[in-house]
Amino acid sequence: MVGVPELPEVETVRRMLEPAMRGARFRRVILNRPNLRIPFPEQFVERLRGKTVDAVARRGKYLMVGLSSGETLIMHLGMSGWFHVAATGDRTRDADAHDHVVLVMSSGRTIVFNDPRRFGFMDLAAEGQLTEYPSLRAMGPEPLLPEFNAASLAQKCRGKRVALKVALLDQRLVAGLGNIYASEALHHAALSPLRAASSIATATGKPRAAAERLAAGIKAVLTSAIRRSESPYRSGRFRVYEREGQPCPRPGCDGTIERITQGARSTFYCPTCQR
Ligand SMILES: [Zn+2]
Repeated sequence: MVGVPELPEVETVRRMLEPAMRGARFRRVILNRPNLRIPFPEQFVERLRGKTVDAVARRGKYLMVGLSSGETLIMHLGMSGWFHVAATGDRTRDADAHDHVVLVMSSGRTIVFNDPRRFGFMDLAAEGQLTEYPSLRAMGPEPLLPEFNAASLAQKCRGKRVALKVALLDQRLVAGLGNIYASEALHHAALSPLRAASSIATATGKPRAAAERLAAGIKAVLTSAIRRSESPYRSGRFRVYEREGQPCPRPGCDGTIERITQGARSTFYCPTCQR
């Protein structure tokens, strides 16, 4: 695995979980430990068992499972979390020491949450409290919806002196981007990760051409990553991520991909065509 799950990987998980969960009841809920990154909520098993799943949604990097009780099960993959879905009773995959949660659904599917590093979490939000949930409250727009565009991006970058790449990791600016797709989107848009975030907007927060290119680049790299989702962590599919020293993939560019550090994270870019 080359990176932490970002929007495309979480969307892939959502699409995998939906047929196993939606319309199904939790028959059994097995916790193999008391916590992940944080403790499971009070009475977690009892609050799930017997409830029906109304919807399996996603917001940024969070999975949101709506329950018949009115509560929402919020799940985050952290650094290394993943779900395995199989027919209940299927033994083709051996149980693993990092299988922390097992959900036996009335759909005939069993869902296992495996997370070696345990930075993932599961929590429950009461009805009506979802919009106030700490990680979701200030979250920016969903990048694949029309509400995210050059105008909304420019408005949020107005006056920001921080480097553009660093700004893109701020979930208040746009939801779901992480280190991989921030680099990928900047290459797609031919924008330097080092330029100030404010440079894509006018002084009054109107979008410049760079904002149009960046909004389009973000949508393009996320959409194509979701499409290639059958192999979510295969590094060969990236434009610049973990490709330092390799030729720039942009047709007509003779640049070489470089790796730099910004905000203690690696950035990959082509200094020749990204300006
Ligand atoms: Zn280039």
